[in-house]
Amino acid sequence: MEQLMEVQLGAATMQEVASGIYAYVQPDGGWCLNNAGLILGGDQAVLVDTVATERRARALAKVVGELVPDGPDYLVNTHFHGDHTFGNSHFVPKATIIAHEHCAVEQIAAGTGLRSLWPEVEWGHTPVIGPTVTYRGEMTLHLGARRVELRHVGPAHTTGDTVVWLPDDGVLFTGDVVWSRTTPFCLMGSITGSIDTIGRLRDLGPQTVVPGHGQVGGIELLAQTESYLSWLLEVARDGLSAGRSVLETARSTDLGAFAELLDSERIVGNLHRAYAELADDPADAVVDIARAFGEMVEFGGPPPCHA
Ligand SMILES: [Zn+2]
Repeated sequence: MEQLMEVQLGAATMQEVASGIYAYVQPDGGWCLNNAGLILGGDQAVLVDTVATERRARALAKVVGELVPDGPDYLVNTHFHGDHTFGNSHFVPKATIIAHEHCAVEQIAAGTGLRSLWPEVEWGHTPVIGPTVTYRGEMTLHLGARRVELRHVGPAHTTGDTVVWLPDDGVLFTGDVVWSRTTPFCLMGSITGSIDTIGRLRDLGPQTVVPGHGQVGGIELLAQTESYLSWLLEVARDGLSAGRSVLETARSTDLGAFAELLDSERIVGNLHRAYAELADDPADAVVDIARAFGEMVEFGGPPPCHA
């Protein structure tokens, strides 16, 4: 097991996707194996997200340190989830942590709750360190001549999602609003909000898309994520009109081509969110997150986490 973990850690790569813009990709992109990013400009650097465990944070800090020996000046958290934020402590106090104001609230509310889902994971020392600067709407960082635009989108994956857009280079860091060969997950955000958001991201015309999980790609990643979510919404509509529970709908659904995506059990969480969004009665619009996770386990067994 120890050896397997090392192999997986070693497989993480820092890829230069444009001059001075890097994607840190952790295969295979499944539960808690997220991507991060690094942007250089002028004499400053911005890190986009961190990683889930102390061991992975040290690995990220090492490779970041090869490019930025003093550490990044800013750290942008795309959203509050622990895989993207638990490593924050490894980059402070040098880095100013920036996030959307909802992210800050959600991060404090969530605390280290994610760890209880996978008690077998060696989380190490990963205290919850929240943003010191929050914004609403949009915010731009100026690294020399390079514009780094932070845009609040959604509700999409959560209610406090930030995408990082580099207009001069056509590079878009999407956080978990967009996924690559991995099942999208909107339990804590919105299915319809995600679809709307992806439409707006397409209008930016990105050439390079760094998703929250999985390999870097182009605009096709937007279409792939959107097609899953549109399909999911139809599955939810059919299930609701037939009077089926979320679990009954999940069990009777043929995933078709989407079966090839990692972590397909997320259909249960996604259906919970879709059912709530389609509900006539506002009382049905509240999603019990713990129950949804419980049903996900009931549906597919304990989800694998290789963090
Ligand atoms: Zn996430």
